[in-house]
Amino acid sequence: MSPVIAFVGLGHMGGPMAANLVKAGHRVVGHDLVPDAVDAAVAAGVEAAPSAVAAAADADVVVTMLPAGRHVLALYQDEGLLAAARPGTLFVDCSTIDVADARAAHEAAVAAGHLAVDAPVSGGVMGAEAGTLTFMVGGDEAAFARAEPLLAAMGKKAVHCGAAGAGQAAKICNNMILGVSMIAVSEAFVLGESLGLSHQALYDVASTASGQCWALSVNCPVPGPVPGSPANRDYLPGFAAPLMAKDLGLAANAVRAGGVDAELGLRAAELYAAFAEGGGAAEDFSGIVRAIRERSGPQLADDQRNQRS
Ligand code: NAD
Repeated sequence: MSPVIAFVGLGHMGGPMAANLVKAGHRVVGHDLVPDAVDAAVAAGVEAAPSAVAAAADADVVVTMLPAGRHVLALYQDEGLLAAARPGTLFVDCSTIDVADARAAHEAAVAAGHLAVDAPVSGGVMGAEAGTLTFMVGGDEAAFARAEPLLAAMGKKAVHCGAAGAGQAAKICNNMILGVSMIAVSEAFVLGESLGLSHQALYDVASTASGQCWALSVNCPVPGPVPGSPANRDYLPGFAAPLMAKDLGLAANAVRAGGVDAELGLRAAELYAAFAEGGGAAEDFSGIVRAIRERSGPQLADDQRNQRS
């Protein structure tokens, strides 16, 4: 029989993910603190529960999609989700949270007699809606095996990365590469501008040479060379800068906790925190090229306008 799923956190990501579980034929009982989020989920076939605890009480699986680790831990422990669930319930946390918090949540779930995985995602809201997310999963083999069919209803790929916390570890390591490489690509374009090199010429060389990377060839931070990149729609996200800042902040916590010598990762976290709090609050993370250009002086801003005209 198809498992009953409790889904807590029906926001930008959780709402469409819950809807895809309904489409796959599951009974989904959902809860969110925001009434509009609940209404949208109900319209997609989710049953509304009066509280997270009520949703979990009769469920076989509890999925959470929440802002940060403190929300997950508070819900699991202080608000009594683990205590309310039947022993042997599978807890799947899809939120992007601190590795240490993910391990603590896992330990608490197992101590309460449950199975648990951390299963953060990449693919954004569009991936959540289309059911094409990639899940990075941490937890033991038995928990992963139980989670896999549900993850398949919400995504195109689930990679079992290792023990508890390994999914979060994979996510922040990947996004540290992405944040650092986007800054490197942006700095190279601004340096090219200062040297009189056109965006197209740099793109044509670097995208087929050793500078090639996703930040350049898919999410190119300057308009023109890659028509689908957010730079061509005035940096409308895409992957919003505050989410990149959040993920780099989590990576920086892990870098410091582990005593890792990751100078670029830590600097990228600082640069994205400043960008997300300033001009980049509503922009794609590739918009950081504009901040780099602005800090490089008025002459470059003029050159850039000339390249666009
Ligand atoms: P969101 O703010 O839209 O949704 C989070 C929801 O959780 C909100 O609706 C909020 O009301 C609800 N919530 C918080 N505490 C709750 C509680 N105690 N009980 C019930 N509901 C509660 O955020 P989002 O964009 O959906 O992101 C969710 C997670 O996914 C975050 O950890 C984020 O980092 C991660 N993520 C987001 C994206 C993206 O593109 N948005 C991409 C990858 C990963």
